[in-house]
Amino acid sequence: MTVAVRFAPSPTGRLHAGNIRPAVLNYLFARANGGSFMLRLDDTDKERSTQAFADGIVEDLTWLGFTWDRFARQSDRTARYEEAAAQLKASGRLYACYETADDLDRKRKRQLARGMPPIYDRAGLKLTAVEQAEMAAQGRKPHWRFRLENTEPGSLVPAPTMVSWNDLIRGDQMVDVGSLSDPVLIREDGTALYTFTSVVDDIDFAITHVIRGEDHVTNSGVQVQLFEALGAEPPAFAHHSLLIGADGQALSKRLDSLSIGGFREAGFEPMAVLSHAALIGTSDAIEPHLTLESLAAQFSFAKISTAPARFDVAELAAFNAKLLHKLPFEAVSDRLAAMGIGGGDAFWNTARANIQVLSDISTWWAVVAGSVPPVIEDAGFTQAAAALLPPAPWSDTTWTEWTNAVKASTGAKGKALFHPLRLALTGTDHGPDMKSLLPLIGYDRTMARLNGQPG
Ligand code: GLU
Repeated sequence: MTVAVRFAPSPTGRLHAGNIRPAVLNYLFARANGGSFMLRLDDTDKERSTQAFADGIVEDLTWLGFTWDRFARQSDRTARYEEAAAQLKASGRLYACYETADDLDRKRKRQLARGMPPIYDRAGLKLTAVEQAEMAAQGRKPHWRFRLENTEPGSLVPAPTMVSWNDLIRGDQMVDVGSLSDPVLIREDGTALYTFTSVVDDIDFAITHVIRGEDHVTNSGVQVQLFEALGAEPPAFAHHSLLIGADGQALSKRLDSLSIGGFREAGFEPMAVLSHAALIGTSDAIEPHLTLESLAAQFSFAKISTAPARFDVAELAAFNAKLLHKLPFEAVSDRLAAMGIGGGDAFWNTARANIQVLSDISTWWAVVAGSVPPVIEDAGFTQAAAALLPPAPWSDTTWTEWTNAVKASTGAKGKALFHPLRLALTGTDHGPDMKSLLPLIGYDRTMARLNGQPG
């Protein structure tokens, strides 16, 4: 069996912290198994789906570094859904219902008032041919429901009926489809709903594994019956847990403010976002990986916990810094060049530990190559130090030789020795190791700054 998976966002918004997890888990599983990864746009909700959101999803996924082997959008496949609906109608599994939203609401309220579960009463199934014809004659348009298999033979009253599967993350799962209403698959206007289109697509594209959030577990129970009603074998399922915030509360309501586009604007690295999304809620160490291949190499469903995964944007920011600190020069050289930053690997290796996002590097490039106003606290001290500057060429031992000489001559030591020199040379009291920074600043700039001139 060749593994085939899909990531199926609805283009009703931009991608956010919550849907990056199913994207990356699907992707890694496919790559770890030599399988194929498909991007499918679930745009059955015509009112809320837009081309701009669809473009945004493609842009965000591309920025993250995903590539997909196949692409489909559900709005292109209506003929196929009509065909599958006809198949279900022919086998008696899809039936017409004429209730309005108000009718259904009244029915639900009556059931609740009587202490009954608000399950659809299958009135549509009980309509005679004559009643059906009357409805049609009145110009009433039906919506269509899938008849769940959840009754004793000859009865329409649902009885407990377990649909079970061995979930690759959650283990043995059971959904009682006897407690559910027959789901609407086709709206009054003839358009199909996600529950249905998703199954038709999964069959047509020979999807072997459906990896998605645990908010779809109940859907899966229904969809297993749909696969079977359409004469197909259900795929394997893996339902991952959902995200909670640092405060332990569900993140679903705040997700819009945690968009992938926002992470990009904040300067986060794609691989920081991806490594974080792939590793939270697993037994692996949450470490930045430099490539998707490296994440794929250690992917296993067995490592994914059923407990909610904690997502904290502050943690992601720290994680981003951690990734930058281990990035080799080759991984960033093009972007540094585009930012007008030189200095080769010597500069990158010296400065990278002091940045949170890549654009921070400009500050240190200005220290090395630009004009930085020195901060002089004691001009007598810095001038004395200037007089002891060793002649060029400099190496990474120059700082130690020089500061030893300044110490011997002025008697300053520890913080009193190093702090004023760092301030004069960099304009700030923290930053990269002076041993490596000093040769990059160079003799002329160092001399100028020690004498209080921007250099
Ligand atoms: N469009 C659905 C969603 O975003 C897809 C769920 C699935 O993977 O089947 O929730």
